[in-house]
Amino acid sequence: MSESAAAFFYLVSGVLFILALRGLSHPATSRQGNLLGMVGMGIAILTTLFLAGPSFGGLVLIILGIAIGGTIGAVIAKRIAMTAMPQLVAAFHSLVGLAAVMVAAAALYAPESMGIGTVGAIHGEALVEMSIGVAIGAITFTGSVIAFLKLDGRMSGKPIMLPSRHAINLALAVLLVALVIGFAASESHVLFWLVILVSLALGVLLIIPIGGADMPVVVSMLNSYSGWAAAGIGFTLQNLALIITGALVGSSGAILSYIMCKGMNRSFISVILGGFGGDAGPAGGEDMDDRTVKQGSAEDAAYLMVNANKVIIVPGYGMAVAQAQHPLREMADRLKEAGVEVKYAIHPVAGRMPGHMNVLLAEANVPYDDVFELEDINSEFTQSDVAFVIGANDVTNPAARDDKSSPIYGMPILNVDQAQTCLFVKRSLGSGYAGIDNTLFYKDNTMMLLADAKKMVEDIVKALDH
Ligand code: NDP
Repeated sequence: MSESAAAFFYLVSGVLFILALRGLSHPATSRQGNLLGMVGMGIAILTTLFLAGPSFGGLVLIILGIAIGGTIGAVIAKRIAMTAMPQLVAAFHSLVGLAAVMVAAAALYAPESMGIGTVGAIHGEALVEMSIGVAIGAITFTGSVIAFLKLDGRMSGKPIMLPSRHAINLALAVLLVALVIGFAASESHVLFWLVILVSLALGVLLIIPIGGADMPVVVSMLNSYSGWAAAGIGFTLQNLALIITGALVGSSGAILSYIMCKGMNRSFISVILGGFGGDAGPAGGEDMDDRTVKQGSAEDAAYLMVNANKVIIVPGYGMAVAQAQHPLREMADRLKEAGVEVKYAIHPVAGRMPGHMNVLLAEANVPYDDVFELEDINSEFTQSDVAFVIGANDVTNPAARDDKSSPIYGMPILNVDQAQTCLFVKRSLGSGYAGIDNTLFYKDNTMMLLADAKKMVEDIVKALDH
């Protein structure tokens, strides 16, 4: 295949990737978006194969690699629970980082095969691109492994704060820049491996002080890094598809991190500097023993809601864990049949990634028109009879609005406490992801429905039927 034909097909796949991202921005078009992305990737792979024209042995190896990797990916994707998506993404990104390191090593040891010079005489610009790509790749690799271990509960999610960690990280970063310059100037293999070693250490040190609640932001940030690492390697290999894809992944990951930070009212810098998400005392400094909680049953909840004019449902991470979205839609249908106005309110960081709740509700065929974003519905809680909070916690915590000493102060919340009655479905009075007590449980207009979310909603549906 000629270079210009390859450039054309790479451009086609780039356009398909952009259309895929556009499709993924709404549940209604996300399947189509996925399909476009897959077609784009298929075209990019075939173009690369035809352009490179590998030997028969090489072709067999490539097909074998695709078959093994594709099978593992398909099995994991089938088995993974939606709630475990952040750690899966972290695990996959560690592989992208590792791949960037390996491609750079291959380029260093066999530059002829990539058309970037010969051993000892690799083109200067290729050395610069390689060294930056390999540094970002190695940081992404160990950083993503630590993120995976924390999110998967194989390592404590609490921040690990080394003494003088900022000074250590700064020193390592300066050393890394010096090593990158040294390698680019000398093509020294020792310096190349030192760049990798220092970057691996930096990846660990940058991520261990970050607390569990900030971890999804970090995963998305590492996602962005892996994209830039791929784009860097794309320049080395002069591969247009890799440059376009890397830049798309890099920028979309950065935008996603920004959306999450905005949703939590956290600055990007404070996430990177870490330390958030440790043990926090009760909000407002109240003595927990003095507080009383009003508990209710499924029958109480059914009675309150069927006699309401307007109910706003607020789903959160617990709904995803319990897989309560299907009975929840049934409950909403029963209420609508009884003439109750039912809406869903989605916080931008409800669950464990933006869009988590939208996907689950779409899976249960909840009409898109019933689902509202925070800024579009928050003013309606004051005119609602019931706010039905199901498995959400942090995103409703009034401490974020009212308590300046709270670690989540400033995070926008859904004003469920402003509804006439707030029904709260969760299993205990325990805290949410941020580890912060929720004063809402003890308010006069709150009724706690302590149970597994799915079981509770099924019982409410039964009570409504009776
Ligand atoms: P939270 O993590 O605050 O709370 C979820 C609640 O669900 C828990 O308190 C838990 O209480 C309850 N729960 C768990 N399992 C069940 C079950 N089977 N049945 C009933 N209840 C259950 O969730 P939110 O969605 O409110 O908040 C999301 C958090 O994630 C925020 O802190 C946010 O900052 C963070 N985050 C989200 C990101 C995103 O993009 N979505 C990104 C970064 C961080 P109990 O154990 O008592 O049942």
